Amino acid sequence: MVRMSAVEKHFGDLHVLRTINLEVASGQVVVVLGPSGSGKSTLCRTINRLEPIDSGVIEVDGKVLPAEGRELARLRADVGMVFQSFNLFAHKTILENVALAPIKVRKTPKAEAEKRGMELLERVGIANQRDKYPAQLSGGQQQRAAIARALAMRPKVMLFDEPTSALDPEMVNEVLDVMTGLAKEGMTMLVVTHEMGFARRAAHRVIFMSDGEIVEDSTPDSFFTAPKSDRAKDFLGKIL
Ligand code: ATP
Ligand code: MG
Repeated sequence: MVRMSAVEKHFGDLHVLRTINLEVASGQVVVVLGPSGSGKSTLCRTINRLEPIDSGVIEVDGKVLPAEGRELARLRADVGMVFQSFNLFAHKTILENVALAPIKVRKTPKAEAEKRGMELLERVGIANQRDKYPAQLSGGQQQRAAIARALAMRPKVMLFDEPTSALDPEMVNEVLDVMTGLAKEGMTMLVVTHEMGFARRAAHRVIFMSDGEIVEDSTPDSFFTAPKSDRAKDFLGKIL
């Protein structure tokens, strides 16, 4: 579903992605771990070209991502992204937030976009918040709205970059539960998170990054119980 081949990326002198080869199969859930600054967010952002790459190839659903233009906009719509900060439109209601992109980008009729938007809000458990504005919701509710908004485009893959890091602890699980549900339903997901419980429960694979490289790529069980590299051992020693 997602294939990165020999992807390189620099920020000036800093080599942030070093020969990244990564394939995420359809329906697979991959958790990305690694110390701060190792390139996890950059990796996510290159997949929908929020961040251009220096060289290499990125394919989504068998189609090579072009650098720009209409085709990029179309392919980007297949990749849903959820960030640490919820990025909802402050001056639109929750339902408007969810229905907007299908109306604007997919040219879905408003009534149909809103009907589907309501189904998604039901699914993430905040249908009763439909007419409120983002600032009137808790962080956990806002993040669930952001997930619903991404799903409204019927993405083929969902990218999550530390979706629970900005939340108060009591709200983390309501967001992780939605993500676990998506994983069970077969959504292809790439998830940067420090939630090891989620990684153990929902991930098919764990990728460990360090200094812009994928250092380990294994099952959660073998990564957590028998990390191979010293860098991964060191990382796990600090977080577990
Ligand atoms: P964290 O766990 O703190 O979120 P990360 O693994 O997501 O870290 P990235 O945000 O991908 O790391 O950053 C990788 C490296 O690239 C870091 O050294 C960072 O300072 C640098 N970097 C990220 N974005 C930019 C940018 N726009 N311009 C210059 N350097 C950047
Ligand atoms: Mg990051």
